[in-house]
Amino acid sequence: MSNLAPPVQSAQGASDAGREPTGSSDQTSSSAQPVLVVKDLVKHFAVRSGAFGAAPPPVRAVDGVSFEVRRGEAFGLVGESGCGKSTVGRAILRLIEPDSGSVRFEGTDITDLPLKELIPMRPRMQIVFQDPYASLNPKQKIGALLAEPLKAHPHAAVNVNASAPIAERVAALIKEVGLPAEALDRYPHEFSGGQRQRIAIARALALEPSFIVADEPVSALDVSIQAQILQLLAGLIDRRGLSFLFISHDLGVVRYFCRRVAVMYLGRIVESGFADDVFDAPLHPYTRALRAASPVPDPTQRGVFERLEGEIPSAAAPPPGCHFHPRCPKAAAPCQVEYPQWRELGNGRGVACHLHDPSKAQAMSVPLRRSAQAAVS
Ligand code: SF4
Repeated sequence: MSNLAPPVQSAQGASDAGREPTGSSDQTSSSAQPVLVVKDLVKHFAVRSGAFGAAPPPVRAVDGVSFEVRRGEAFGLVGESGCGKSTVGRAILRLIEPDSGSVRFEGTDITDLPLKELIPMRPRMQIVFQDPYASLNPKQKIGALLAEPLKAHPHAAVNVNASAPIAERVAALIKEVGLPAEALDRYPHEFSGGQRQRIAIARALALEPSFIVADEPVSALDVSIQAQILQLLAGLIDRRGLSFLFISHDLGVVRYFCRRVAVMYLGRIVESGFADDVFDAPLHPYTRALRAASPVPDPTQRGVFERLEGEIPSAAAPPPGCHFHPRCPKAAAPCQVEYPQWRELGNGRGVACHLHDPSKAQAMSVPLRRSAQAAVS
């Protein structure tokens, strides 16, 4: 998906006029009013012990993640499978309960909000899943499927559509996602993958949310269909002023659709900034490795970044020091013992890597791999 055209203006929210000076201690900073503020989010999963063994350590799926999503912005969360990005999306919506940290949505701290108070807010926060077929009830016709949320939350919508009959609103929804009215009388299995994802998007839009978690929404689709779905989502930012948390492992897709991005590794954000900056000049060795693994249409750009070796370690037993150090070509002595602090670098950019800590410049000048080679020879 990396050979998509440059991002359309609408997919980027307003424009780079919104580029802000930093100063926030968050892993992404923003001077405009955000729709979502996530601070130090943590979610660990307990692992069941065997019959006689001691309890194994928990899986640290999300380990202190902070970021903001502005109104009308697509914010990307990118990283390898298993890095915790989907868990972040679900914890934000409280589909799973976070262990600690806070989630503030439209000015309200929803982290510990009782369910009774959370439910009326749910229409404003929706999710689109990767597999549209699994997320649609195969026994329901599309018309009934889209009407269901409207019946469950009859007073949720806030714009002019709210007073219209449900059938009329359902017809408007299916039209908005580019499907014919006849689709309402058919079942999910009668549609292609791309059409089913359009239906899933229509259902997410039914209650007029202001924020959508899009969890790998195009990963299961062909490239040409991916582009159509991304255009559809970009149009929603324009027309409805929607905000997205866009979760993907595909750098090309994220760059196309998102204005700002955060890169996750083993439950933590390791780099963030404006998408073009992060992908054109990645600072963190892990982001550089992701770039190296991403297909590029320009042959002169191939091999610019170091390729990544080895598997992502278990989140139940992350390596000491910087969690990335066993795979990092730049790792030096401090990386083995100390997790790098988050550093704001200006222009919305932040990174967690000792290479960008001036106080460690000397210690970082001797990479572990080079010193190991010197010892052998
Ligand atoms: Fe690599 Fe060290 Fe930076 Fe971690 S802190 S990414 S191991 S250079």
